[in-house]
Amino acid sequence: MIAACTRRHLLFAAGALATLGSRAAHAADDRFALTGQPTQGGWLRGHLPPGASGLRLDDRDLAHAPDGVFLLAFDRDSPPQAVLSAQAAAGPISQIIAVAPRAWQIEHVNTPMHPPGMADAEFARRRSAELAQIGAARRHDTGAQGWRQMMMRPAHGPLSGRFGAQRVFRGVPAAYHGGLDLAAPAGSAILAPADGVVVLAAAGEPFTLEGHLVIVDHGMGLNSAMLHARALHVTEGTVLRQGDTIGEVGMTGRATGPHLHWALNWHGRKLDPLLFLAA
Ligand SMILES: [Zn+2]
Repeated sequence: MIAACTRRHLLFAAGALATLGSRAAHAADDRFALTGQPTQGGWLRGHLPPGASGLRLDDRDLAHAPDGVFLLAFDRDSPPQAVLSAQAAAGPISQIIAVAPRAWQIEHVNTPMHPPGMADAEFARRRSAELAQIGAARRHDTGAQGWRQMMMRPAHGPLSGRFGAQRVFRGVPAAYHGGLDLAAPAGSAILAPADGVVVLAAAGEPFTLEGHLVIVDHGMGLNSAMLHARALHVTEGTVLRQGDTIGEVGMTGRATGPHLHWALNWHGRKLDPLLFLAA
């Protein structure tokens, strides 16, 4: 018992020395072993140092998996700096992350901002219910592990719309484009970009803008939305492996032609799917 106790103290001391040594050697760099793309719309994966707890990103708690691995991501309009912090055995540690800014393109879209043929009052009424469903789905954490993976393209077709582009609908500026458009033919397969669980499958009345929509939870706050489907082959609760078929590409909702709009979201932050794809 005494031997075990002594050994634990020795290990603690060695750990404390290692932490101090690391702090002296690398003022503020790889303490969290970060890898990824720290840019607007991008992400980082990291590892909590052994024995550390209380992980925070800026002023909010940040979850980590039992093995210490965590994910964080940066909104399209993220400020240029974020601070990661935690409590290590030897005291508080923190790391400043520089978030690289990006230049966003202007994209002219030849459709009206609202779906044609729908009165504003009717649109507003339906829209609030739809947004409530989407919000509830995105808060649903299924414990899926897809957040650990590099992703694959969820449809085979040319890139026809980039994430982050400022959209102008027949001369009227609107919100930026929140996803990636892949111009795959109608009826071609929509595939799961990473492992996950279906948390919304809008197979009934198409949503006003998204049409037939599927949201897949990848765990740790990360989720994919797949829009404008012609048909869905999953229901809420369906467990997906990367590459499984979700449905068929279509043009339901607001779309000028068949395509898949793929949006990635992390705790309300809008992300650039291109930055999540395997090289
Ligand atoms: Zn789109």
